[in-house]
Amino acid sequence: MTDLLQKSLYALALSLVAVSAGNAATLVEPTLHLKPQGGGGRVALTLDACGGKTDTRILSALVENRIPATIFVTGIWLKRNAAAVEIMRAHPDLFELENHGGRHIPAVDTPRKIYGISSAGSPDAVLAEVESGAAALASAGGPAPKWFRGATAEYSPSAIAMIRKLGFKIAGFSVNGDGGSLLGAKQTARRIAAAKDGDVIIAHINQPTHAAGEGVVQGLLALKQKGMTFVRLDDAEDMGNDGTTD
Ligand SMILES: [Zn+2]
Repeated sequence: MTDLLQKSLYALALSLVAVSAGNAATLVEPTLHLKPQGGGGRVALTLDACGGKTDTRILSALVENRIPATIFVTGIWLKRNAAAVEIMRAHPDLFELENHGGRHIPAVDTPRKIYGISSAGSPDAVLAEVESGAAALASAGGPAPKWFRGATAEYSPSAIAMIRKLGFKIAGFSVNGDGGSLLGAKQTARRIAAAKDGDVIIAHINQPTHAAGEGVVQGLLALKQKGMTFVRLDDAEDMGNDGTTD
């Protein structure tokens, strides 16, 4: 056996081990699209406010350029960002606030880690995360949320079924705009500017010190310049997989 062949067989064996470990508790990362409209095209911008602060570069650009967005907020973020919430509430034609959970805990009902964050770990804890997020939004005034997006945007299928029973649609996405706000400005701008008719973009509005935020603004302005229309999730017919919207 050649050295090279031996090496590739070893790599193959390793990858098989990784695949079977993954199957033991399969999580899903659902996608969401809008019904394509043709013409100049139509996209939905969704921005997560997980915790931390507000990226005013993005918030100001949205207001100044009249770009509508769906903002997924946690109870933690709502508590610490009253000024930003006030700006969003002052522009109900631009901002739809939806449920990103009470404490930014992944909606996975078995104990495990996702990107280093501990999951809710039980059905009761998933319910508590979803309901406390909705309660936080209700106490901040404004309409009741209709959409939920869990921390990390990964779910166990059983958690999806529970959340749907509570009456929420689950917001996947089709364009990962900022790679968890960890990408550089150029790469973020390129990803967002490449969005096509029907895409649902995800990025973050809670990391004012990250370069990605600058790229979010550049990407959005490029899309606007191309004649793309922006809609909120409530304004368009949508199609999610994994049982998230039907
Ligand atoms: Zn988040």
